[in-house]
Amino acid sequence: MTSHPGFQTPAAPRPGAQTSTAAGAHHPGTVLAAHSLTKTYGATVALAGVSLAVRAGEALAIMGASGSGKTTLLHSLAGIITPDSGSIQLHAEGGSREMTDMSEAKRTDLRRTEFGFVFQEGMLLPELTALENVALAAMLCGVERKRAEHAAGEWLAAMGLRGMEARRIGELSGGQAQRVAIARAQVTGARIVFADEPTGALDSATSSDVMTALLAATSRAGRSLVVVTHDPEVAARCDRTVRMRDGRVLDDSAARA
Ligand code: ADP
Ligand code: MG
Repeated sequence: MTSHPGFQTPAAPRPGAQTSTAAGAHHPGTVLAAHSLTKTYGATVALAGVSLAVRAGEALAIMGASGSGKTTLLHSLAGIITPDSGSIQLHAEGGSREMTDMSEAKRTDLRRTEFGFVFQEGMLLPELTALENVALAAMLCGVERKRAEHAAGEWLAAMGLRGMEARRIGELSGGQAQRVAIARAQVTGARIVFADEPTGALDSATSSDVMTALLAATSRAGRSLVVVTHDPEVAARCDRTVRMRDGRVLDDSAARA
């Protein structure tokens, strides 16, 4: 494979080009639909029957107390773990695919090409530069090095990191490192970006900047964002919020609209 069809440069993200859709506004379609997901770890019920749809272009916040199952749900939706029961359909123009039936290899391929990830601590490779961290994600999708580095440079610039391409991760602030992680999540043309407490280690001003960058690069550019957060200010900037307790979805703001 010389290039992934979703591979792209950041022409799309134009911060502020599109205003946020209000909670409950009409969404054109569902990209990911989970039905009755369950997952237990020994005696612990992490998911007790969760159904949830992720719509095209929405920013969806998942909130809830520690231990309520947020990360387990995110990892299930993203194909990192397989739930014990239930189904997860990934919808695309060419048809739908059932993720829970897929081989590990197929799910790995899906994670690499269709999904992007932003974690609390970035999970960047400290021995690589900012540019190399982003370019590597594209290269793992089969993009040739020169093109990957070019696209990586453009994504870093779109994240406000022009001039910092050659810095190693340890030479960046926490907020800058998270913006590298956001660039990395975008460079493959991911349709859905999953973020687990992406601002959890940042002060509130930096957290706000990182959320601005994350929203600009995802839902405002037509991609979907699923973000686990403790922070009501982060959730308030999303289109929709789902609350979890004891492995269940308690409340979905879309249902109230
Ligand atoms: P949250 O992200 O909301 O804090 P998690 O999804 O991480 O919650 O965890 C839900 C429950 O499942 C917790 O009780 C947690 O301890 C348990 N759990 C999660 N992952 C594992 C695991 N790999 N092994 C054992 N228990 C786990
Ligand atoms: Mg968690």
